[in-house]
Amino acid sequence: MPTFRSAIASKLPLVKTTIFTRMGQLAQKHQAINLSQGFPNFEPDPELIALVTKAMNQGYNQYAPMAGLLALREIIAKKIEALHGQSYDPETEITVTVGATQAIFTIITAFISPMDEVILFKPAYDCYEPAIRLNGGILVGVQLKKDDCTVDWDEFRAKITPRTKMVIINTPHNPSGTILSKADMIQLQESLKDTGIIVISDEVYEHIIFDGQQHESASRYHDLAQRTFVCSSFGKTFHITGWKLGYCVAPAELMREFRKTHQFNVFSVDHAAQKAMADYLKTPQHYLDLPKFYEQKRNLFVSGLSGSRFTVRPCSGSYFQLLDYSAISEENDMEFAERLVKEHKIASIPLSGFNTEDKTQKLVRFCFAKTTETLEKATAVLRTI
Ligand code: PMP
Ligand code: GLN
Repeated sequence: MPTFRSAIASKLPLVKTTIFTRMGQLAQKHQAINLSQGFPNFEPDPELIALVTKAMNQGYNQYAPMAGLLALREIIAKKIEALHGQSYDPETEITVTVGATQAIFTIITAFISPMDEVILFKPAYDCYEPAIRLNGGILVGVQLKKDDCTVDWDEFRAKITPRTKMVIINTPHNPSGTILSKADMIQLQESLKDTGIIVISDEVYEHIIFDGQQHESASRYHDLAQRTFVCSSFGKTFHITGWKLGYCVAPAELMREFRKTHQFNVFSVDHAAQKAMADYLKTPQHYLDLPKFYEQKRNLFVSGLSGSRFTVRPCSGSYFQLLDYSAISEENDMEFAERLVKEHKIASIPLSGFNTEDKTQKLVRFCFAKTTETLEKATAVLRTI
């Protein structure tokens, strides 16, 4: 076939296939235990499968309302009110999305114009940066502190300019597993006072939080909530990443603008899945039990590593564990992660996949949303390295 010569330059010249896809493919090629991309290797609750089947049989097979099934939006509002004491109007302040990824992409597209600055804490999950660039925005990175991934709020404040349009936060944090504290949220709220800056608070791991700690949702902070889109993902909460079902909430004025883009981006989201979720959420225990469930998995993974040469970083939330391999190898994190798959048959994600500005850290990320058998097998190998 003759080569098509496009006159159009790439809008994302530096972007390659995501690190999650690349490491997942390597895992398959080498038949490795896959602790790279973040997804559970066990089935969701059979009740959820029964509910979606029932919804399809009941005729939930045509377009859902643009903003989402009202029954689902209503129960999301109740959940947030009960957990965080903030009320969102289901009619005007909640929209169901194709996972958190679409919510985030749509928010950025709806609000970021060329030369607008967006402050992002690095390392960061990979979907924010391309969306900012596609919309002509300027990325302003603030590196988290190397030793404990906390925020230097003075540095953050120094990066705010009259061009700053948006700030993106993520708690519990992917990839470090750290969480923002109440003091952090107050710092953020105070720093943004008297500005028109919009916040995206990526809270997809809101229910995966350990050791009795409280998830500090942006929705708990009244002034902060006025400028914030809180994004969440049922995929993460209910072991159904393949359903791609999530939502975002924000004050009506912001949500009105969001929906202008959302309606032409996806129009609406899988109807039967929304009906199933609306019914499933009637039992709060389904998400209230999650911290214990994943805390056991974290503990199993971490205790399985005792006696190994890896150093375990503290993990307060999410289903990711960072391990420091500096006692094992001088290789950079990509080289180390590749060798781990090829020689030891364990797939992980190198930290630099979340941080193009800093490739010096000797850290790799492991997903522990896996069965006991998988975690035991993986840690038995990791102990030998
Ligand atoms: N934000 C973070 C921090 C994530 O780890 C992920 C991956 N699930 C997403 C957003 C995207 O969520 P979803 O799968 O619901 O699109
Ligand atoms: N959130 C998942 C992770 O961090 C990846 C999802 C994806 O591949 N886009 O591993």
